[in-house]
Amino acid sequence: MIAVDGPGSSGKTSVGAAAAARLGLRFCDTGLFYRAVTFAARQLGIGEIDVDRLVALVAQVRLEVDSTGRYAVVTLDGTDITADVIAPDVDAAVSTYARVPELRAALLPRQREIAAEGGVVMAGRDIGTVVLPDADLKVFLDASVEERARRRADERGIAPSSQAAMEILDQLRVRDDIDASRSIAPLRRADDAVTIRTDAVSFAATVDQLVAAIEAVGRAPRPLSGDVPRQSAPTAARLATAGRSGRVARRAAIDPTPIATRITWIIRIASFVIRVIARFFTEVVIEGDVDAIPRSGAVLVAANHASNADPVLIGGFLNGRLGRPMNWMGKRELFDWPVISWLARHGGIHPLDRGAADVEGFRTAMRILDRGNILAVFPEGTRSPDGKLMAAKDGVAVLATRSGALIVPIGVIDSDRLWPRGRRIPVRTPRVTVRIGEPFYLADVLAAADARGTEALAAANARGTEAVAVGDARGTEAPNGSRTQVDGAGRPSSGSRRRSNAAGTDVIMRRIAALLPPRQQGAYGPWQAD
Ligand code: C5P
Repeated sequence: MIAVDGPGSSGKTSVGAAAAARLGLRFCDTGLFYRAVTFAARQLGIGEIDVDRLVALVAQVRLEVDSTGRYAVVTLDGTDITADVIAPDVDAAVSTYARVPELRAALLPRQREIAAEGGVVMAGRDIGTVVLPDADLKVFLDASVEERARRRADERGIAPSSQAAMEILDQLRVRDDIDASRSIAPLRRADDAVTIRTDAVSFAATVDQLVAAIEAVGRAPRPLSGDVPRQSAPTAARLATAGRSGRVARRAAIDPTPIATRITWIIRIASFVIRVIARFFTEVVIEGDVDAIPRSGAVLVAANHASNADPVLIGGFLNGRLGRPMNWMGKRELFDWPVISWLARHGGIHPLDRGAADVEGFRTAMRILDRGNILAVFPEGTRSPDGKLMAAKDGVAVLATRSGALIVPIGVIDSDRLWPRGRRIPVRTPRVTVRIGEPFYLADVLAAADARGTEALAAANARGTEAVAVGDARGTEAPNGSRTQVDGAGRPSSGSRRRSNAAGTDVIMRRIAALLPPRQQGAYGPWQAD
């Protein structure tokens, strides 16, 4: 059991998770518990003095472990709220709720339950002092408040000298102050903790330091007689079994990819090579109005995914014409291959842990858009086995809503024939089309659909019905079967937020489907009855 404590933005989560991944240990960021309760409390209008209702929320919150051993998915009553818990309003409110002693007491067994099995790195504020006082190793990560504020501003694409950056600094000071001065489990370094200062130290070097500290504890010799230091043998055994059992795969720490903002010579050469190689196998036709894609500002490109050829062709054929590169979220496994990893890192591909809502990945995606860059995503999450559109995840709609980015739908036609799943090399195919759709803002489309829904509500009320389906029966732009609950005034109720994400996803996917031939429209085909 490894405890990692420290103030906000000291790097506990990113460093702790990377070290855990490298050693094949599980990783739990306990701040997610406090954030989840804060999010739920705010949704339901529960204040910090409403202690009973606050404590009751704990039972509804779950952290779920993904295939990499990270407790990365946060659910509230079964609904995924991972993206919601890192919103700025939760940032601002969480410390106020976290100082409620009854809430802390209710969350204590939940955290200990996760750690009980061992083989875990647990990050928070009071892990070494309260949650796991018997931890095998306690680490306190620290950095000056200015450095932490600078990192957070950087993460969010905020200029260091701006008013917003000053506000971040102030907010961190306030949070530090509340966390350190509360009566129960205040933020403080455990007496037996090792301090790692992260000012002016690179991310990779900090991970190396933490890994070395954990490994040193694991290697510590068992004395022949006398007291067995708590931390020696058990950790060694856990490290060994965690690695051997394969329960959690060992993974190397990887540095974040820099955001691609301009066409570098590497991108230029790679794009050229892609176009030359593509010519051996197929004719790539670009259809639609490339010039409708703006040359600056946040753009979210959303495409169908039927083949490994999709990102290669979209990037290789469009980057140069746009005069700026696309950033991608790519599966983390890509970074295990030396040459590919180098290309990915220089080509704007950012590592993403799939199979889980990855908080760091979501933050990276938001940062790319907040800084006014292009981010290309495959909303289906993975390649379709048969070239047909599959039901998409809601991540794309959450990104679109949060960032307000312009969305450009792209349909890639016949790439599944060019390079089918399971084939090592492409197959000669007469033509692959990359069809660019009309750019749109999701908020505009949803507002229009909502207006239609409000009219329908009035009609439905007249008939005595209580809910309305947003969208028309043909479903050209209509959320596929998603319903928005509205209150008496026709506004979406707070409970409909998730459905509104589903509605947003549906809008985006239908725009992609409209660019594809019927063979590839799959789950969003117009012939399917809504
Ligand atoms: O680490 P993160 O910034 O996500 O944590 C959010 C907040 O949750 C902290 O500011 C703190 O108030 C609270 N927290 C806590 N004890 C923990 C973890 C987080 O009080 N073990």
